[in-house]
Amino acid sequence: MDATPFQAGWPLAALALALGAAGVALWAQPLWMRRRHRQLRTQPFPRAWARILRQRVPLAQRLPWPLRRRLLGLMQVFIADKPFIGCGGLAIDDEHRVTIAAQACLLLLGQPGDDCYPRLRQVLVYPDAFIVPRRQVLPGGVVSEQPQVLAGESWAQGQVVLAWSEVLAGAADAEDGRNVVLHEFAHQVDQDGGEANGQPWQRDAAARQRWAQAAEEGLARLRDEPSATLDAYGRTDPAEFFAVATEAFFERPRALASEAPQLYQALARLYRLDPQGW
Ligand SMILES: [Zn+2]
Repeated sequence: MDATPFQAGWPLAALALALGAAGVALWAQPLWMRRRHRQLRTQPFPRAWARILRQRVPLAQRLPWPLRRRLLGLMQVFIADKPFIGCGGLAIDDEHRVTIAAQACLLLLGQPGDDCYPRLRQVLVYPDAFIVPRRQVLPGGVVSEQPQVLAGESWAQGQVVLAWSEVLAGAADAEDGRNVVLHEFAHQVDQDGGEANGQPWQRDAAARQRWAQAAEEGLARLRDEPSATLDAYGRTDPAEFFAVATEAFFERPRALASEAPQLYQALARLYRLDPQGW
């Protein structure tokens, strides 16, 4: 809740009456959550987790110390708050939690606050690529339902689904620009306002305009000619373009900055990070 009623000149008593018991919870919750997050963030980072991080997420090793410390804190919040669910017989352990949380939290390093993906309710993990039925409306209105093999998926209802073998492969090579966790969590960032539309974190009209222009030009260029840095899958639509551009931004920042400087700058402003310097 913001402070608009006060600014509009509401007397405090009238405001308290209007809010009632629910109002107390609304005012108290953010403070309670902030305290809890601070507690989680500042507790000692388990040694076993640090070992997994070193082994599994080379990208995290590149971070300058202040960002690395922030990553460890966010990971503790993420792992405490988000249930991980093993699917297809997979038993979830710390290796899954740490490897996935580290990469998911990279996207939040430059953002204010400790709230990790407030709309995310679950992370579902399959051992390998999983099959989902896909409805497609063909020309003439015929609806076809085809099975599709996926490495990951992000739902607007607050779920991310990942194939563990793909998570490992994506994390192991931190310089190929292909990373399923960065990709799916970019969709979650994009889904902060509902459906993914390639317009994430729209803070103000000027920022929205700057990002929209950079993304539109980048998508048009990718549709015109192959890119050495961006996966061709980004041609699909603005949401996939944002997810693919995010993978390149974190894993191939120098190549992206050289190939598409305006797109790199727009992503750097959006994420409030400059991975070229890592
Ligand atoms: Zn995608």
